[in-house]
Amino acid sequence: MGALRHWVKSFLLWELWMGLRLTGRYLFKPKITVQYPDERTPQSPRFRGLHALRRYPNGEERCIACKLCEAVCPALAITIEAEPRADGSRRTTRYDIDLFKCIYCGFCEEACPVDAIVETRIFDYHFERRGEQVMTKEKLLAIGEKYEEMIAADKAADAPYR
Ligand code: SF4
Ligand code: SF4
Repeated sequence: MGALRHWVKSFLLWELWMGLRLTGRYLFKPKITVQYPDERTPQSPRFRGLHALRRYPNGEERCIACKLCEAVCPALAITIEAEPRADGSRRTTRYDIDLFKCIYCGFCEEACPVDAIVETRIFDYHFERRGEQVMTKEKLLAIGEKYEEMIAADKAADAPYR
């Protein structure tokens, strides 16, 4: 009896119809697939992505080389070297973040007393050569300059939570 039922099911393409029924059930339902990168899902202003170093509006670097971010980084991803300047202030001569070590915890941003190091909402970036994952001071400052408007707006939106 079981063999006959199996034969009848095979003859009537039972599994195929069951599969098509499932397909039909979803055919006219609203589509939830996002056509990235043309479409993007909403993102919190507190999303932690690619890092940036910021400048003040007059062009001066915000970073005062206090090394708090380096000390607090649990992944030891930040390397800073600093020197005093002629005017007595301190500035970094080297500021590297190894993004392969970084766990995007945001501690560096939290620790920074002058809002110099920040994590932007940028998440779609890639590396093509060995070593490119080390974000140097020049690269971080360039990102900060390019996205300062977005960073400042996100900081303002995030202010009530701080
Ligand atoms: S986000 Fe966290 S792990 Fe990454 S550099 Fe900052 S403190 Fe280190
Ligand atoms: S980025 Fe901020 S916390 Fe890190 S060394 Fe510069 S001023 Fe200090």
